[in-house]
Amino acid sequence: MLKKIFMGEKGFCTPIHRAGLKKIMEMLMHICCAPCSTVTNRFFRDLGYGVSGYFYNPNIHPYREFRKRLETLKEYCKEEEIPLMVEDRYLLDLFLRETVFNEEDRCRYCYRMRLLETARKAEEEGLPYISSTLLISPYQDHELLKNIGTQSAEKYGRIFVYQDLRHMFNESVNLSREKGLYRQPYCGCIYSERERYYKPKNKPEN
Ligand code: SF4
Repeated sequence: MLKKIFMGEKGFCTPIHRAGLKKIMEMLMHICCAPCSTVTNRFFRDLGYGVSGYFYNPNIHPYREFRKRLETLKEYCKEEEIPLMVEDRYLLDLFLRETVFNEEDRCRYCYRMRLLETARKAEEEGLPYISSTLLISPYQDHELLKNIGTQSAEKYGRIFVYQDLRHMFNESVNLSREKGLYRQPYCGCIYSERERYYKPKNKPEN
């Protein structure tokens, strides 16, 4: 079930400034996890965007990992007063239907699934801009993210805001350590979990 958690806002603009920006600068930020959202949210808020978060990640497996990332994010957003919307159903089947037989190209389907839904949600909420905390990750394909983000936003009449934030990744790692946030050791899906931990001496033949 989709849940809304509104926790107020702690922006970097004055209230009058914020009121003036509200109609044109409100952004729905797709959030993959709390650690990646630390610096990303601050960066866009500093630019003057009113950032609301959206946790929509059917790619995160297994279920206990999904819950751990979600609960960490809820705690973080509560502490930082970041408005957050969450899809807390565990949509494993949806992710697998998109990616099975497309394993080599799975990130394309994974980005599209998450950014399309973020754009749809932004339209529903009347927020003109979207972006993603994935932009801070040096492990993601930025050209692909930019293209898919732009196409997804256009489909719902939104604007995808791209920024290459990879140079701030280490800062986000340090900040999340300082705050004691749970940091996941793999990207999210079962394929990435396998890549992280399964290191066979002799690779099985296909
Ligand atoms: S590796 Fe990461 S981005 Fe790619 S499909 Fe898996 S969870 Fe999605």
